[in-house]
Amino acid sequence: KAEGKGRSQIFHTQMDIDYHYRQRLKADLREAVAEGELGLVFQPLLDIATRKVVSCEALVRWTHPEFGPIPPATFIPLAEEMGIISSITAWVIENATHECRSWSSPVGVGVNVSARDFRGVDLPALIDRALTQSGLAPGRLEIEVTETALIEERDLAGSVLQTLADKGIAIALDDFGTGYSSLSYLSALPFTKLKIDRSFVVDIAEDPRALRLLANVARLGRDLDLMVVAEGVETEEQLNVMLSETSVQQVQGYFFSRPLPAKDVAELIERFNG
Ligand code: C2E
Ligand code: CA
Ligand code: CA
Ligand code: CA
Repeated sequence: KAEGKGRSQIFHTQMDIDYHYRQRLKADLREAVAEGELGLVFQPLLDIATRKVVSCEALVRWTHPEFGPIPPATFIPLAEEMGIISSITAWVIENATHECRSWSSPVGVGVNVSARDFRGVDLPALIDRALTQSGLAPGRLEIEVTETALIEERDLAGSVLQTLADKGIAIALDDFGTGYSSLSYLSALPFTKLKIDRSFVVDIAEDPRALRLLANVARLGRDLDLMVVAEGVETEEQLNVMLSETSVQQVQGYFFSRPLPAKDVAELIERFNG
């Protein structure tokens, strides 16, 4: 009984720490967003056959002055809860289009949008403005949406994505195969690209069944005329089996490059494509 009591006290203490930590992070995140202290890195996507960079995904970064780097998987949900995700999205889109315009070869740029953005902000207007200000062709911008976002905002997301697709903007279904996958989205919404989650890639060099699964998911995407991307490619073995056994067209992952600061990704594009 004494032990039980002790445990529950520890439990409360831990909950208090978590609660206070989250409150602190939220307050500091609000300030970081207001002060423009977030960062942006870019990870290249390569054509699997030519090994040229075809686009780069913009990924947001936050280095807390006291706690160091906080992963987006931690602070994006906080920003969603706080109702400030749309300011982050707007900032990412402005920066990403601007950087993309400066690259030496006409590769694309991908940005992630959250479910909340469909309600929180006029995405088509925001994107129009960013394209005009940067002078970037709409065909070079790619919007990445997860299935979760589509479940939360199905009707609204559908009409916003159609508006964007009509402008020639590419639409990617992100993290495919995770969460509440519903294959019906694939044909109902105007996707141009399918990003297969890294969980489908991780075992393909050792496990033939994992490889068959990836091959079949990729074929499904190709049958629907989607550009098929595999995420999280970390080794040459994974790349090689993917190239010989699947119809995956583009790859993203640490094997080619980690996400890089703008200056370094510009150099990488020059080196790979120049
Ligand atoms: P995501 O959209 O699936 O982005 C890909 C994530 O996989 C990135 O993590 C990237 O660093 C990581 N990654 C890339 N290659 C590899 C690999 O070979 N191995 C492994 N293990 N991981 C790899 P990151 O940057 O930590 O971002 C995590 C998630 O946070 C993103 O997943 C995305 O959902 C969200 N996120 C990031 N930036 C933004 C943003 O600007 N807006 C929104 N709404 N969400 C964002
Ligand atoms: Ca993404
Ligand atoms: Ca993803
Ligand atoms: Ca992910």
